[in-house]
Amino acid sequence: MQPAPVPYRGRFAPSPTGPLHFGSLLAALGSWLMARRAGGEWLVRIEDLDPPREVPGAARAQLRTLHAFGLVPDGEVMYQSRRGEAYQAALDRLLASGAAFTCHCSRADLAVAKGVHRACVAHARRPDPAVRLQVPDGTSIAFEDRLRGGVRQRLDLEVGDFVLRRADGPWAYQLAVVVDDAEQGITEVVRGADLLDSTARQVFLQQRLGLATPAYAHLPLALEADGTKLSKSCAALPVDDADPVPALRRAWVGLGQDPAVLSGLRSPQALLAAAVCAFDPEALASAPASFAAAHNTDATGHA
Ligand code: GLU
Repeated sequence: MQPAPVPYRGRFAPSPTGPLHFGSLLAALGSWLMARRAGGEWLVRIEDLDPPREVPGAARAQLRTLHAFGLVPDGEVMYQSRRGEAYQAALDRLLASGAAFTCHCSRADLAVAKGVHRACVAHARRPDPAVRLQVPDGTSIAFEDRLRGGVRQRLDLEVGDFVLRRADGPWAYQLAVVVDDAEQGITEVVRGADLLDSTARQVFLQQRLGLATPAYAHLPLALEADGTKLSKSCAALPVDDADPVPALRRAWVGLGQDPAVLSGLRSPQALLAAAVCAFDPEALASAPASFAAAHNTDATGHA
């Protein structure tokens, strides 16, 4: 008998560092569309790993915004701040197998090697060492991104032994994301292209932990008009819970989709229903890798 096919499961994983802005909406809508189009589930995970960077109330506000936009998760929201035991268990396994090691290097030690850790240097032992994953010489990770094509990275030369638990205590994003994508049974990770660069690390960590590697699709990146990353300026302003339709239209166009199929639709629910039917993954695959996200304009460019 053939094993039953694994059902598609996608996710959106915001960090609660502020209200949801247009770049996050693009990742939310893109991952939701890919999941719905595949007849699969869509989950939300709050990546609240880094208390100093968190804004109180931001996670609740982000979830409220998703609801206002009609993007409703299919299961319980996962919070990374409650997942310490699972991260510890993964770390213990890596330490026990010798794949991870305790590192006493300081920032100054690393600066000499341009931030790429290849070997611990002789120095004072710190009371709060970091834990790193060992990346052996010659480690080359290749994966196929559904939207960006084939990607290969020499992890030893470009990244080095990377942090799993930081010296000041918090779990590193790379460890948490890998453990949680596996725990939630994510079959395809759909997120912004700013995270393409992290993916090889995550694939390597999955290999070290004996976890399956999901499929990956890195969405086009919304940029400022001058081509720089969305910052606190107008394009990065929070999306408006009271008026979701214009932002949904802009995100749809950013995903390389035809604005005409959504014309005349006035509610987020009607718009999303039409979007699922009309969503064209081929158009998304051929959309530019980045685009200027003008604010306060609708999909036709009118103010
Ligand atoms: N929490 C990350 C962010 O908001 C996203 C992580 C991911 O999708 O893997 O940028």
